[in-house]
Amino acid sequence: MEPEIFVIATPIGNLGDISFRAVETLKTVDFILCEDTRITSRLLKHYGIKKELVSFNAQSESRKINKVLERLRNDEVCALVSDAGTPTISDPGARLINEAIKKGIKITGIPGPNAAILGLSISGLPTDSFVFEGFLPQKKGRQKKLKELSTEKRTIVLYESTYRIEKIIKELVEYFPERFVVIHRELTKMHEETWRGYPSELMEKLPERKIKGEFVIIIAPINWVEK
Ligand code: SAM
Repeated sequence: MEPEIFVIATPIGNLGDISFRAVETLKTVDFILCEDTRITSRLLKHYGIKKELVSFNAQSESRKINKVLERLRNDEVCALVSDAGTPTISDPGARLINEAIKKGIKITGIPGPNAAILGLSISGLPTDSFVFEGFLPQKKGRQKKLKELSTEKRTIVLYESTYRIEKIIKELVEYFPERFVVIHRELTKMHEETWRGYPSELMEKLPERKIKGEFVIIIAPINWVEK
């Protein structure tokens, strides 16, 4: 077999959301690079797959690239997966892929779930042109980025985690008071829900309890009005 990296999208919540080709490919590779071996083990167990898992996360990526490339040079084939969704999208792996391309290693993508695209596709907001910003900076540069984005004309797609969801909704009130917003929580999971409205309305809708989960935030284009 020629050396190859399969970049494989995995579920973002519902374990059924993985392609047939992804499952079949995971069965054939020599080893799987993954962020958290416990999370990927659960997925593999569900599909009856036994494979060597190699931990490959944001902290270890640069340290491990050479070791991975060395194994590929010895004609091994590997898969790259994330804890959830499409690898390299707000997840590690882009540097590995870049280095592998430079070494002439074949890269094959196996498409599947991505929280941003799923959230956008069911938001009801314009999707013909959008900007994906992923996570905003946590501290330094956050206000600057929000200010910059406040003049962005296209639909904006953001990721946010449990830790800062309340903070970001307050920031939406400050930086995007006139723009309609859709927030998806826990897509494809048991407690999936969607909140829609202008930022001040979303503030009012916030439940009393601590909000938990993973979120995709979609901000409508400037001057877009829900009719
Ligand atoms: N690579 C992933 C993808 O393709 O979507 C994204 C990984 S990023 C580290 C994790 C973030 O994606 C979460 O904090 C959340 O903003 C978003 N996300 C992932 N799964 C989600 C879900 N089921 N529902 C809502 N947002 C989700």
